Amino acid sequence: MSKHESQLSNDGHDTESTYDAELLRYGDRVMLIDSRNRRYLVTLARDAAFHSHSGLVPHEDMVGRPEGSEFRTASNAKYIVLRPTLTDYVLKMPRGAQVIYPKDLGPILLLADIHPGVRVLESGLGSGALSTTLLRYGAIVTGYEIREDFAERAQENVKTFLGDEPLERYHVHIRDIYEGIPESGLDRVILDLPEPWQVVPHLPGALRRGGIFVAYNPSIIQVQQLRSVLADGPFTMIETVEILQRSWHVEGNAVRPDHRMVGHTGFLTSARLLGGPAEDE
Ligand code: SAH
Repeated sequence: MSKHESQLSNDGHDTESTYDAELLRYGDRVMLIDSRNRRYLVTLARDAAFHSHSGLVPHEDMVGRPEGSEFRTASNAKYIVLRPTLTDYVLKMPRGAQVIYPKDLGPILLLADIHPGVRVLESGLGSGALSTTLLRYGAIVTGYEIREDFAERAQENVKTFLGDEPLERYHVHIRDIYEGIPESGLDRVILDLPEPWQVVPHLPGALRRGGIFVAYNPSIIQVQQLRSVLADGPFTMIETVEILQRSWHVEGNAVRPDHRMVGHTGFLTSARLLGGPAEDE
């Protein structure tokens, strides 16, 4: 049996990584890109088709073909098929709450120094964009979320992009983090919720000494309040940054910044914990 046939006969999601598999298979999540650079996320299924206003592409036409293949609908509209990256997924994933965008997710990974096996407490979970990112880079994530519907949505979104394996490293609790953190020995605490300063008094004891705290906040008033609480606590290296990302238009001699950019998302505040309950006098 050729490699092509063997992959065609496999319609499960059972390999270690669909990203390494060369040819597209049933069960794969793919992204279709049209001639105007619009993107659509689709999961390849038997007897299904991608419907667009310019006709349809049967999923079976894509199965067994490599990423980067081109397809045309009956009315000759062109689509290219690629597997989505984490960035593509975050921009398209089903959401209830506003997600943290890739431009901030990347820096959060480095601010919080995320690596395989690191123990992270994340709150709130919202649509799970940050959870998916932390799990993708190997973290063990405990998540506190007050809303059951968001907790469900976050877990579904994690599973859709990463499959089942990371769910074993994702421990979700319906819990108001302002009331306390009954965990200990955490390496990181990462917050995206309205009043992060209410969480700061719970950090010693939950976060280990030397552990890193990161908060994402849209408003500078939130940052000001958070910073004043951090400044009074056992923290060092307290910093706030804003990430600006400007894309460029590059076409012939017209080489300039794009006219439009995302002007604002949120501020990232980070700090490291010095003390702990053992040091309190
Ligand atoms: N970072 C997420 C989005 C989080 S939106 C993402 O990237 O997808 C903020 C979330 O915080 C909401 O789901 C909200 O329900 C939750 N939240 C607000 N206050 C909370 C609290 N006190 N404890 C736990 N979760 C809280």
